Amino acid sequence: MATNKKLNKLGIALVGLGKYASGQLAPALKETKNCYLAGIVTGSSEKAEKWKTKYEIPESNIYNYENFDSIRDNPDIDIVYVVLPNALHKEYVIRAAAAGKHVICEKPMAITESDCDEMIEACRKAGKLLSIGYRLHFEPHNQEVMRLGQDKVFGNIKSIVADNGMEGTEGWRLDKTLAGGGPLMDVGIYCVQAACYTTGMEPVAVRAKELPKTKPEIFKTIEESISWEMEFPNGLVASCKCSYVEELNRLHAEAQKGWFELSPAYEYKGIKGKTVLNTMNFPEVNQQALQMDDFAEAVTNNRPSPVPGEMGKRDVKILQAIYRAMETGKKVQIKSSKYSLI
Ligand code: NAD
Repeated sequence: MATNKKLNKLGIALVGLGKYASGQLAPALKETKNCYLAGIVTGSSEKAEKWKTKYEIPESNIYNYENFDSIRDNPDIDIVYVVLPNALHKEYVIRAAAAGKHVICEKPMAITESDCDEMIEACRKAGKLLSIGYRLHFEPHNQEVMRLGQDKVFGNIKSIVADNGMEGTEGWRLDKTLAGGGPLMDVGIYCVQAACYTTGMEPVAVRAKELPKTKPEIFKTIEESISWEMEFPNGLVASCKCSYVEELNRLHAEAQKGWFELSPAYEYKGIKGKTVLNTMNFPEVNQQALQMDDFAEAVTNNRPSPVPGEMGKRDVKILQAIYRAMETGKKVQIKSSKYSLI
């Protein structure tokens, strides 16, 4: 097959051309140094036509969900990026790996921990790298929080508060079968991530409470808001909340010798940080471009991704434990991952 490959860049194919792929990833792929938008996978011929023109994608690099597996024969595509509703991640990651492609999978990695196991195994078996779309690991304010917390710059952390929420959602996110749950799966995962990367630890137990629904006619199969606590091995507690009816976006850590915080903490742009001593002063970056460039470099140099499938699995395990705690009203213990993260 003739190749349209750009010199010295890995080709990425986006699977699922929804809001995130069109609003963030495709524009970011115009700024990347190590990779570029080489192909698309979509169920819509109208979208295919639009993207073909807008991003100059050759016809031979355009797939639908049925003929997707033949991407195996396309040398232009090195990496498949799965940007579908949560419950579909598993199938497309496994199919991408079976087609011999490296894979980026959006968060949350899957609906259950055992799905994550199958996805990790599929990539391992195919000898392909798997990473999760954890863009904040490439964002300087969040990286600073990792440093302040993990290096104990203000001493041991005593407590963390992490909140994330937005007013309103729609479509598949309201359907538990496709989303796996409510705001916890969608935006609460950022609080789970933040507590882990700020402490450099994994929680050992969780407690959770669903908050009363103000719009039960909308949130029929999922929670509207949930608050939960994550207990870490040294006794530190992270208190978290997420919601589909409230704007929230904060990460705050209290340490022995002072505090530090980000607010907003998890946005694509405009993240701001402060410590007890000063205001953080970091440049605004294109998080998605840095995330994809890092993965392309990991593939080229055959090194692990800092945000691998195992990290995605750890977080899905924690999310599932939070739901169990919410449903039972009891504290739920979490087994530690074999894989050392952070
Ligand atoms: P979206 O609804 O805008 O897009 C989903 C796409 O999947 C659409 O193009 C839709 O046509 C397609 N699709 C294929 N099969 C479908 C089916 N059976 N039902 C519904 N849609 C189907 O969603 P989105 O906001 O782009 O989110 C997609 C994924 O990206 C989710 O996993 C989400 O959590 C993740 N995401 C990540 C970030 C981030 O910051 N990392 C931000 C937004 C979304």
